[in-house]
Amino acid sequence: MIDPELYTLDVEDPTALTRMLSDGFEDWSKQAASTGFCSRPVRLFGQARTFDRRSGQHLHTFDSRDLPDSVLYVRCGNRRASRCPSCSHEYQGDMWHLLSAGVSGGDKGVPESVSTHPLVFLTLTAPSFGTVHSSTRPGAQPRQCTVNAAPGLCEHGRPRRCTEHHDADDARIGQPLCPDCYDYEGQTVWQWHCPELWRRFTIRLRRLVATHLGMSEKASRDLLRVQFAKVGEYQKRGAIHLHALVRLDGAPTDQEPFPSPAIDAPASWLAERCLEAAQGVEVDSAPVDGNDCARTLRFGRQVDARPVQRHTDDGGDVSPEMVAAYLAKYATKAAGDVAAEGAPNRHLKRLRETCLELCGRALLADGFASPYALLGKWADAFGFRGHFASKSRRFSTTLGTLRDVRRKYHRDRERLETSAGSSGTADSFDVTEHTVVINEFRFVGQGWLTPGDAELARSAADAAREWKDSRCAARRLHEKGKNHGEALLHR
Ligand SMILES: [Zn+2]
Ligand SMILES: [Zn+2]
Ligand SMILES: [Zn+2]
Repeated sequence: MIDPELYTLDVEDPTALTRMLSDGFEDWSKQAASTGFCSRPVRLFGQARTFDRRSGQHLHTFDSRDLPDSVLYVRCGNRRASRCPSCSHEYQGDMWHLLSAGVSGGDKGVPESVSTHPLVFLTLTAPSFGTVHSSTRPGAQPRQCTVNAAPGLCEHGRPRRCTEHHDADDARIGQPLCPDCYDYEGQTVWQWHCPELWRRFTIRLRRLVATHLGMSEKASRDLLRVQFAKVGEYQKRGAIHLHALVRLDGAPTDQEPFPSPAIDAPASWLAERCLEAAQGVEVDSAPVDGNDCARTLRFGRQVDARPVQRHTDDGGDVSPEMVAAYLAKYATKAAGDVAAEGAPNRHLKRLRETCLELCGRALLADGFASPYALLGKWADAFGFRGHFASKSRRFSTTLGTLRDVRRKYHRDRERLETSAGSSGTADSFDVTEHTVVINEFRFVGQGWLTPGDAELARSAADAAREWKDSRCAARRLHEKGKNHGEALLHR
């Protein structure tokens, strides 16, 4: 049932009051809750008819016209926090489960034994394309904006270094000290080829692992596999950083999809191989047109590979909870989200324009045969066309599996509520393996019908999330205490 308390928070729009006083409010709020209080739910109009699979008998019709607004509301499913806090929160939760299952196991069909496999938390950065204003990392010693820049003025008469301290929300962070010195074309071309750099990195890493074990790559495949999960993070300068979890497994079979590697290698050994692979990987990019030059692209120098600590004695220095939460958070951010609210961001605008300009030049020079022919399509992502979050098949469970589990959970709960005597909604008809459902819905729009409805959904979403977060935190604290207690007992 919906807690009426959820709706009593600072809702100001008069249409909200109209909704709350209407006869159908309870049914409407149930629908709103079933979308998870999505910010911009999809509105569907139509019917779902249920038939008996064997006899063909028509058993039940669910009609959107029986619902308060004559439409069925469905989650928008947007993963971006700036678009829909509710759906992105759900996505982030799924991501967290997926990553944490791959790190610690014991969840979602991944055995606990994966927590003994060597695991590395890797960050691959973009190189520098010019000096930008930067902030001190939270928690670190405050430091001057530009540390290693040369003194004096650039050829455009602008200072090469900045001695200020910038707060994390300073709009100048990520802006170049001199836009005319900044290599916009270089960054765009690098970002365009970044997925290829990653692909070559994974190939090189597998090769290096085999070489260091003194065997061919083919022979090594019988003993071990390298599994990945990676997430892209936009920096304020619009360049992508890749954060990845790299895990060593044995060769999987259908019976045992997550076996332990058949070699004894510590995580620190895997971290060294990651660094070696990252430092050596290169992509030679073609010039955009006759006025451009060829480039050799590499990752930035700030490559970081850390063993992930699962057991206190293996000397790792990052915790599994930390990496899973960190990666899950980045999975909900997109290019546009790096800009500070409101302020026009000249640097990001110029990056976008550079994508369009280079694409135009490439098309003029080589037509659609140019490797940059589609660059313009990715201008809003500043040229990054890679998947934001991706993983090798055997890293963990899939997002699809998690969604199915959740759907089943909600269906079971609803069925339980219905049979417990609370008023069931029209769509809680029992769907079993003996029935077939024919959906005939059409899209009629997106978003809540009035500003008041939207405000109600938003305030309920905030309240629901706060409640859920506090419950999760309490549960995690409880688990931690339990683990700690057990560790003490078994010393
Ligand atoms: Zn949504
Ligand atoms: Zn500065
Ligand atoms: Zn300059």
